[in-house]
Amino acid sequence: MKNIFSIPRNELEEYFININDKKFRATQIYEFLYKKRIYNVNDMNNIGKNIKEKLKQDFDFSFIKLKLKQEDVNVKKYLFELSDGNYIESVLMYHDYGISICVSSQVGCNMGCAFCESGRLKKVRNLEAYEIVQQIILIEEDIKARISHVVVMGIGEPFDNYDNIMNFIRIINDPKGIDIGARHITVSTCGIVPKIYEFAKDFSQVNLAISLHAPNDKLRNQIMPISKAYNLNELMNSIKHYIKTTNRRVTFEYIMLENINDSEDNAKELSKLLKNLNCYVNLIPYNETENIGFKRTKKVQILAFYDILKKNGINVTIRKEFGSKVDAACGQLRANQN
Ligand code: SF4
Repeated sequence: MKNIFSIPRNELEEYFININDKKFRATQIYEFLYKKRIYNVNDMNNIGKNIKEKLKQDFDFSFIKLKLKQEDVNVKKYLFELSDGNYIESVLMYHDYGISICVSSQVGCNMGCAFCESGRLKKVRNLEAYEIVQQIILIEEDIKARISHVVVMGIGEPFDNYDNIMNFIRIINDPKGIDIGARHITVSTCGIVPKIYEFAKDFSQVNLAISLHAPNDKLRNQIMPISKAYNLNELMNSIKHYIKTTNRRVTFEYIMLENINDSEDNAKELSKLLKNLNCYVNLIPYNETENIGFKRTKKVQILAFYDILKKNGINVTIRKEFGSKVDAACGQLRANQN
């Protein structure tokens, strides 16, 4: 039985037509779930008794469970338990421009990036759309405020779970659903090239971020195994196609790892790679963890790297750091449950 929070509105319309009811019933149900936040079918007025019974028979209305919360200045980290006992994480951040949430897309991840805590725990399964939608609903209930920005950059590779992620985006972007504007939604991939082409076609208004982390194949192969499947040239071609088709700016994420990818030569090479591309680079100070040997680049070196990109005309920012009292690296809360 499918969970009701996995169903985009057009699919729900088809369902009601198929059971000889009215198409607009889908909008009514959406308004109960996402606007009025009424989750018990029995409490939904204006829906006939027979339809209520049918809905209860045909859909699961259950929720994932909030198990743990860690808080620091302007950041909250949440651990959720899924119905099969697996755990996932989400991170909420307060910014000047609104409230963002970084959601997980899989239990574990198979991409094996060498610096990543989440990737140490291999993929167990994909998340279904409802398990991602409910991360937002439960956190909004916890903070009693609306989330304005969503980033699919938590545990997992979203393009390895493409269909569920696309349904998730349809549901949260729907004006009758959670109603988060497409331009406030960002999907981040480590570089699954065929899906970048599909994404450009399916979601031209949603932002794309690329976890790049290295300016050449040799280095990228060392820290990101995906690069052996799709080399930098193929990746860059798909990104150029995305920019040309959507007219949107791409974000490149670049985690700064001491003595690995943070030299001045690396910065020059990165500048050359991205020259004249409609993009910006987000330099991310690495969160060291006990389990992984990489070290965080010193601040002075991050600034030197930043300067070289700037001088070469690349738009660049250094990611603002949030509280260190929470287990900041993605995957740490979950890892500590095992
Ligand atoms: S960085 Fe992202 S894609 Fe790479 S292993 Fe971690 S979760 Fe997976």
